[in-house]
Amino acid sequence: MSFPFAALIELLPVLEQEASENDGDAVFPRDGMARLRRLGAFSAPLPHASGGYGYGTEPAGALPLLRLLRLVGQGSLALGRLLEGHVNAIRLVARYGTDAQMQQVAADVRNGALFGIWVTEGVEPVRFHDDGAAIVLHGEKLFASGALHVTRPLITARAPNGDTRMMLVRRDDPRSASPSIGGISGMRGAGTGRCDFTGMVLTPDALIGLPGDYMRQPEFSAGAWRGIAVALGGIDRLVDLLRLQLADRSRDANPHQRVRMGMALIARETASLWARKAALVAEGHGSDPGDVAATVNLARIATERAGLDVIELVQRGLGLSAFVKSNVVERIQRDLATYLRQPAPDETLVEAAGWFTHRDLPQPEGDA
Ligand SMILES: Cc1cc2nc3c(=O)[nH]c(=O)nc-3n(C[C@H](O)[C@H](O)[C@H](O)COP(=O)(O)OP(=O)(O)OC[C@H]3O[C@@H](n4cnc5c(N)ncnc54)[C@H](O)[C@@H]3O)c2cc1C
Repeated sequence: MSFPFAALIELLPVLEQEASENDGDAVFPRDGMARLRRLGAFSAPLPHASGGYGYGTEPAGALPLLRLLRLVGQGSLALGRLLEGHVNAIRLVARYGTDAQMQQVAADVRNGALFGIWVTEGVEPVRFHDDGAAIVLHGEKLFASGALHVTRPLITARAPNGDTRMMLVRRDDPRSASPSIGGISGMRGAGTGRCDFTGMVLTPDALIGLPGDYMRQPEFSAGAWRGIAVALGGIDRLVDLLRLQLADRSRDANPHQRVRMGMALIARETASLWARKAALVAEGHGSDPGDVAATVNLARIATERAGLDVIELVQRGLGLSAFVKSNVVERIQRDLATYLRQPAPDETLVEAAGWFTHRDLPQPEGDA
């Protein structure tokens, strides 16, 4: 059995339509989630032994997961972000959790749980006190995707001695969060909000891994390749819409517009090559951890650059029509521009450049 990619490709116009309908009121994409779940997208990250495809949890899943996230990103960047967070959390439990914790994750996924990863701190970062029998939380998470819908967020929390720990929270009543962070302009369907954990009590089996595991390299940086894959889907869609809309308006033969189409295709292909390299290096074995982290970091910046270039080319090529709300291009640009804001881009580039000043990038197996 393999993932039904053909069925997913057929579904993309439906996902895009829902994303556009939901944009104005920032409505969560319930229908798209249900359809993706029926296709098996949310159980795909489980290892084969647990009934999944091992996407994100087994090395052979690297390129199929890239394809899955890219396609979902083509249909809806908001859904792509939610799926990416779900995969990320499951991956971390598979990497650092116990067998029993992973079995529980698999059972929860089969029962329809939505996982997410919430690490961004608010004014009051999440802290915890552990007396051996119970863990008591205090503080809140910001920019939490699916704030009202994620039932199993994997969060980071700080212990009194300063250690950072990961913990998997069971939220069977996720309505206690706020779906708003003040009106975000793009990615409105992702339900990005805040969640106050103050007073929540967990049992010790909620702890995943050891102190410091969350920041451990290369995992800490390498996981960003999955966000790159989703962003690539948004880039794909904008490039396709640029070509289609120029042709529809009989403006495609103009040499200036051809230059834009050519530059957009180059940017898209650049992002695609970087995404593939990042996926293979991150999910393969044998690369130096520093090489893995720095390669994915360069891929992040390359994809950001490609996305920003494509947005500019689309705006200049389509003109004001790219800013008209009834044109789907308008929303996708907003979603992509928002999605491309990922943490600490300056540091990401500078550290990767420093790492590769005196050594070459790794080549994934099979590449020249
Ligand atoms: C759609 C969406 C969904 C998200 N969902 C989640 C989620 O589910 N869970 C979660 O945990 N997070 C989530 N996030 C938050 C995300 O992980 C990042 O925290 C966020 O995108 C950071 O963006 P930023 O531009 O504010 O980054 P910043 O890191 O603040 O960068 C902004 C600028 O400041 C610079 N800068 C950074 N640090 C410094 C410094 N110390 N001094 C000077 N300059 C600095 C950067 O290089 C950059 O130029 C989401 C974000 C988006 C866009």
